[in-house]
Amino acid sequence: MQTIKQAAVVGGGVIGAGWVARLIENGINVSIYDPDPTAPQKIDAVLANSRHAYSKLTMAPRRTEGQFSFAKDIASAVKAADWIVEAVPERLDLKQKIYREIEGAAPHSAIIASSTSGILPTDLQAGLQHPERLLVAHPFNPVYLLPLVELVGGKQTSADTVQRAQAFYRSIGMHPLHIKKEIEAFIADRLLEAVWRESLWLVSDGIASTEDVDDAIRYGFGLRWAQMGLFETYRIAGGEAGMRHFMEQFGPCLSWPWTKLTDVPEFNDQLVDLIAGQSDAQSGHYSIRQLERIRDNNLIAILQALKAHDWGAGKALAVYEKSQYDAAASQAQTAVDYSQPIKTVERTVPTDWTDYNNHMNESRYLQVSSDATDAFMRLIGVDAAYVEAGGSYFTVETHIRHLDEVRALEPIVVTTQVLNGSGKKLHLFNRIQHADGRLLATAEHMLIHVSLKTRSSSLPSEAIAQKLAEIAQAQAHLPKPDGAGRAIGA
Ligand code: NAD
Repeated sequence: MQTIKQAAVVGGGVIGAGWVARLIENGINVSIYDPDPTAPQKIDAVLANSRHAYSKLTMAPRRTEGQFSFAKDIASAVKAADWIVEAVPERLDLKQKIYREIEGAAPHSAIIASSTSGILPTDLQAGLQHPERLLVAHPFNPVYLLPLVELVGGKQTSADTVQRAQAFYRSIGMHPLHIKKEIEAFIADRLLEAVWRESLWLVSDGIASTEDVDDAIRYGFGLRWAQMGLFETYRIAGGEAGMRHFMEQFGPCLSWPWTKLTDVPEFNDQLVDLIAGQSDAQSGHYSIRQLERIRDNNLIAILQALKAHDWGAGKALAVYEKSQYDAAASQAQTAVDYSQPIKTVERTVPTDWTDYNNHMNESRYLQVSSDATDAFMRLIGVDAAYVEAGGSYFTVETHIRHLDEVRALEPIVVTTQVLNGSGKKLHLFNRIQHADGRLLATAEHMLIHVSLKTRSSSLPSEAIAQKLAEIAQAQAHLPKPDGAGRAIGA
């Protein structure tokens, strides 16, 4: 797979800024063009949200953030780009004009990915010199958190472009859904539009308020949709007899006079005032920034819950985390100097790891140190396959010294020193530090190797014993760390 290092984002509004956030989170440098002088401020606000979100979303090692800069015109933004994201307003003539400018300056091999919510890619690519490299990659807001991206090729889009796009979006944690027949508005927005239309009727006819409609979704079927979608949910509703029974039972209702799905209420000032007024009453006491944070925190919790059940969007998060761990492990294999304490964690402090003083909570010191121990385990080969085969280490004793305070979103680093790695024992000393090296805490752990079959202590595999011996020998010259072997120092 081609590794994308440099991207361009043309149009830095709601969606463009979300793309910038996801791209730099994945170590890709981004050049942005947007004629609006307030675009940098808007992008900063989205980046503040995305950094907050990623610091909570995953404990996996994160890549070093890519850099972003603002270009003076489209040509300078795209001239060195491998991947070009178009996220300008939804007008065919504007998008086509922008593609002409892009083609005048971008490398021929660069993919052009339009964020359009509904325009056909065949129409977008008409007039391009290299139409085969354009496709629609339709994301969902917030782009940095929601994994879905609908991929739609036009008549002239090449199969290679679609394949490259699938691999690329997977590599940045997304779930590419390839829509094989192009239709306006693709899949998700068609579904949403049906619900939106019916909701407008319900409010317009005075049957429900905007809050009633939202409650009808979020207290009930919205929860089902987030994890099983529509058809799988209805299959269950059909009971043992499944989908066939469900369709026989409920299919005829579609012709009952319940629905106005094909009509649209007149979109006049009265309707807009009604909806906007109710929405103000419902949510006006929150700022948009507060609502974004609430939304992001809820989405993160849902994604993490789904990940724990290896289901739906949680699978995309699990795959992404595995790739982050693999990348960190392969980097570790090649670059680690075993003669010094080994860097096992590098991250920022998530905003919800802090207490009312905005300092990292006591329990998180243990969590960080335990993440460092996990990273050390992966380094020596105690990975998912080893655990599957029946071996692991259990922690039997821990001693933590809290030496300094650290605030939300500050970077921290943990290094791990092996004090003893022979036989069944593994004695580790983790130093938790600020990025500038000042010591925050030390955590000393004694672990014992166990057989997961007998649940009692056992020797590690030959390969693990050897790797541990190699590291312990390389670190044997290090002085005993200050604080090692300490109990509570009264
Ligand atoms: P937006 O209005 O928030 O942002 C558009 C940005 O494009 C603005 O910052 C504007 O200054 C900039 N722009 C205008 N002319 C430009 C030019 N000539 N060159 C470069 N930049 C220019 O709109 P948005 O919601 O981010 O939508 C962008 C695209 O993404 C649209 O095609 C839309 O259909 C699609 N989309 C939107 C959503 C959504 O929820 N908002 C979701 C998925 C896809």
